[in-house]
Amino acid sequence: MKSSLHFLSFLFLASSVCAQPSPQSKKITETFYPELDIEVNTPAFAKKKGFTNHEEMMAFLKVLSEKHPEKMSFKIIGQSQKGKDIPMVMLKAKSAETDKIKIWMQGGLHGNEPASTETMLYLIEQLCTNPALESKLDEIELAIVPMANIDGYEKQDRYSANGLDLNRDQTKLAAPETNFLKKAFSEFGAEVAVDFHEYKPYRKDYAMLGEFGIAGYFDAMLLYSGNLNVPQNLRDFTEKTFIEDTRAVLAKNNFSYHDYFSSGDYHGEVHLNQGSNNARSSATNVALTNTISALIEIRGVDLGRTSFKRRINCGYLIAMSFIQSAIENKRELRSQLIEATKSTHIAVIKSKKSVKEMPVKFIDIGSSSIIELTIPVHNANEMMATFTRTRPSAYLIQKDQTEVVEKLKTLGLTIEQLASSKELKVEVYTVTEFEREPEKYEGVNRQNVQTTTELKTIVFEAGTYVLYTNQARANLAIEILEPETTNSMVSFSVIETELNQTLPYYRSLAPITID
Ligand SMILES: [Zn+2]
Repeated sequence: MKSSLHFLSFLFLASSVCAQPSPQSKKITETFYPELDIEVNTPAFAKKKGFTNHEEMMAFLKVLSEKHPEKMSFKIIGQSQKGKDIPMVMLKAKSAETDKIKIWMQGGLHGNEPASTETMLYLIEQLCTNPALESKLDEIELAIVPMANIDGYEKQDRYSANGLDLNRDQTKLAAPETNFLKKAFSEFGAEVAVDFHEYKPYRKDYAMLGEFGIAGYFDAMLLYSGNLNVPQNLRDFTEKTFIEDTRAVLAKNNFSYHDYFSSGDYHGEVHLNQGSNNARSSATNVALTNTISALIEIRGVDLGRTSFKRRINCGYLIAMSFIQSAIENKRELRSQLIEATKSTHIAVIKSKKSVKEMPVKFIDIGSSSIIELTIPVHNANEMMATFTRTRPSAYLIQKDQTEVVEKLKTLGLTIEQLASSKELKVEVYTVTEFEREPEKYEGVNRQNVQTTTELKTIVFEAGTYVLYTNQARANLAIEILEPETTNSMVSFSVIETELNQTLPYYRSLAPITID
């Protein structure tokens, strides 16, 4: 008795202290995530273990493009840091309908989320070969990047070869892969975009909950932006149409789902962070370009090939749901996107999330059963603005800021230049508070600043860059240029500054012309 008590307390300690809770038991897999008996004809299933590698993917795409040249082709959009070709698949059938909806999908931005890549390959194969899906390509045009982070994928590692997280690189654009992806995305001009990922059922924080730790329960988690610079009509339409349709499809097919959340340690207590408003990640970054945007998390990291077909099918149903929603709501989709483009909302610089206790389902590892924990949830889909500025009519950027201008162009922003020198009344930023973070985050010592703006008359030379905020993707420019936002060019030290310095770009409140 005594020894078993000791044993139990040892187990308890182990589960509370260890960063790596016990792996998923057979019982949990069998009870909650039974494998599906479906045929998946992607390269991974031609072998007993492992996932489709880069070479197999290229061969697979080549065969499909040769068999179905009338609807499927692919091109190379760039190379990974280790020199491997990044393919982008185009699915577009010749049909009477010329004004097709443009949909972008990608997988494998994190290299250790294999069902995201395999889902994209399965989707491509189905759209090429399944006669029941033939008519879909009459209405839509799809661009798919199945393996966005090839070097990471080849090692089943989250990061790119130089250690950067490509889904924290969407505003600073430090990795070559991010630049190739963003350029291809901007050129394609997507109206709907979905980024497929997998999430880790076991998080370090989860060891602190339940008797022997807990695990994430949901087959899929759905992320759509709560960023207040994304026009309200677009946020509402995304959730009420695309996300709501996806929820219905998942429910009908017996997959569990929830709005996306991660966990965080708040003074020793585990809280959940639901949704996202962060422009450094794809869901919000893309939404800020006035696109219907979502990030999908399938339950899968560290699960190997356990329930692999189930995970792929879950992702596939979600992809098809987005395609179907776009087709069924084409007219409204177009009018919502136009309305969003006309939005002249105030520039939100800082905002805070609502915090509410909410019941959330988890798997209790000790009892292999579902439990419901009531837990504080910080919700990015319920944000409140705490610091705003008037939306400028344009930003003027000094001629020497070529790196910043290149990045803005890669992100799809149109930038013009003054034809001749001009005297203009503009707002000048002066840094009034400055902190450089001592620890590196994603390769940079970030700068946290507070600035004041003052109206001044300045003579700008010919060639000064002008970014108008009446363009479709302007909300992303606001998020990147207002220096206090957490993902700005100043925050990420792309623009270095110091206390009491002025910044090399300006806000024009009055309308200006370049000639
Ligand atoms: Zn991911």
